[in-house]
Amino acid sequence: MSISGELVSMGSVGLFCGSSAGADPAWTEAATAFGRLLTEAGVRLVYGGGGTGLMGACARAVTAAGGRPLGVIPEFLRLPEVAYEAAELVVVGSMHERKAVMFREADGFAVLPGGVGTLEEAIEILSWARLGLHAKPVVFLNAQGFWTPLLELFDHTVSQGFSPAGFTLAYQAVDRVEDILPALAAMASAAKGAPDMPLIVT
Ligand code: AMP
Repeated sequence: MSISGELVSMGSVGLFCGSSAGADPAWTEAATAFGRLLTEAGVRLVYGGGGTGLMGACARAVTAAGGRPLGVIPEFLRLPEVAYEAAELVVVGSMHERKAVMFREADGFAVLPGGVGTLEEAIEILSWARLGLHAKPVVFLNAQGFWTPLLELFDHTVSQGFSPAGFTLAYQAVDRVEDILPALAAMASAAKGAPDMPLIVT
């Protein structure tokens, strides 16, 4: 099966990224490119529903390319995160509900640069994978080594015996934004029929 064939079955990709633009305009360019690439591939963006920072840049790129993102935003963040009204907005009551809806609606997850909120969302998804609750792929955009400290910390938890060796199969890191979707599709294919991750490291 070709990668493009697999991408169609990917359907929707959840995005975790900064609600700020960050210090380097390259991050906004990456988020914009990702929105365009998703839409050109016929993949729906599922994201936090905001109009600010990298989140907003990606969502606007989806709209500009003729797509319509699904935005999941808690009521109390509608103003601070400037809810992106062009998205199909699902307004929820809490952060927990946002993550549950994003998890349900997405077939895999991309993590672009961001702050503590991005970290929290990505790590929750990975901790659910580590508990065997799902096998949805997670791909970090590690351009300029942005996520290297986190990836090294993950390796450290494995080498110190706190995470199973298989934990590192739950995610991949790519340097280029155009490699995110192919990596997600390849991981989704590989996950089919793969054994569950052991719950406890012995
Ligand atoms: P940040 O990377 O800190 O800019 O946050 C990125 C996104 O994560 C923003 O939309 C935040 O509202 C969101 N976020 C922050 N904390 C949480 C949380 N505990 N659960 C769900 N989303 C969160």
